Amino acid sequence: MQRLTGVERWRRLADEQRAAGRRIGLVPTMGALHRGHESLVAAARANGDYVLLTIFVNPRQFDRPDDLRAYPRTPEHDRALAADMGVDALVEPALDEMWPAYPDATATTVSVRGVSDALEGAGRPGHFDGVASVVAKLAVITGPCRAYFGEKDFQQLAVVRRLLFDLGFDVTVVGCPIVRDSDGLAISSRNVRLDPSARTRALSLHEALDRAASIEGPAESMRSVMRDVLAAASVEMAYAEVVDPLTLERTGDDETGPRRALVAGVVDGVRLIDNREVYVRGRA
Ligand code: AMP
Repeated sequence: MQRLTGVERWRRLADEQRAAGRRIGLVPTMGALHRGHESLVAAARANGDYVLLTIFVNPRQFDRPDDLRAYPRTPEHDRALAADMGVDALVEPALDEMWPAYPDATATTVSVRGVSDALEGAGRPGHFDGVASVVAKLAVITGPCRAYFGEKDFQQLAVVRRLLFDLGFDVTVVGCPIVRDSDGLAISSRNVRLDPSARTRALSLHEALDRAASIEGPAESMRSVMRDVLAAASVEMAYAEVVDPLTLERTGDDETGPRRALVAGVVDGVRLIDNREVYVRGRA
């Protein structure tokens, strides 16, 4: 596994790989690697890609300084795990190369209107501008054939798809299913901050989604059951929504078909998200 930090070396390496006829699979992460990240690498390897994994805790996508400070950082563990996973190149870009002006804003910000606005975007101002800006920069430097993102961050996946499409990037976005622990909790780098009792309450996010999926009825019935499950577990709910999987527009009560249910909530100061496919049956 190659390890690098400098943008120019990284760009040159990517150029060389493409020149040698390899297709680059870009796997952007913020580190604290776990089985969720591993599934993205496995998908890239299964496609035969040259796997370039980036680790960059992007400060521009954090709306709260305390959340950025508390974000887990495990560089030694990550380097060992990345090598074990079969990553070809591990890139850990330096902050002053990614965002030289930081903490001042860069003059250029990529903003994806519409899909960024609701859900996570409503509660975390500037979050998706930070995500879109960093993904655009990673893609410009790397020149990947494919980019891998988890459905765990479902809205992020929608934002990235829209961004790469609108700006004409020749990159295929591969969305990978959510990897869960055996108790059903969606794996997240933030889970290490949950003590055992908080973890039990956190399971209500997954339970809320499963209860919603079991309903043969309209979107509002699903929202209502999700709200009830989260309230019963004393989760501080941010949202419990049912939306169109591509546009993320809110599903009306007369709509029928496959949709996405998404929940977010805070458990003991830790903000968690989860989602799953549901099938809504609109009121006739
Ligand atoms: P992060 O390091 O949290 O920014 O995540 C990097 C990538 O891994 C994103 O595309 C996430 O959606 C994806 N990811 C994180 N957790 C999971 C999971 N449990 N299952 C699938 N993908 C995940």
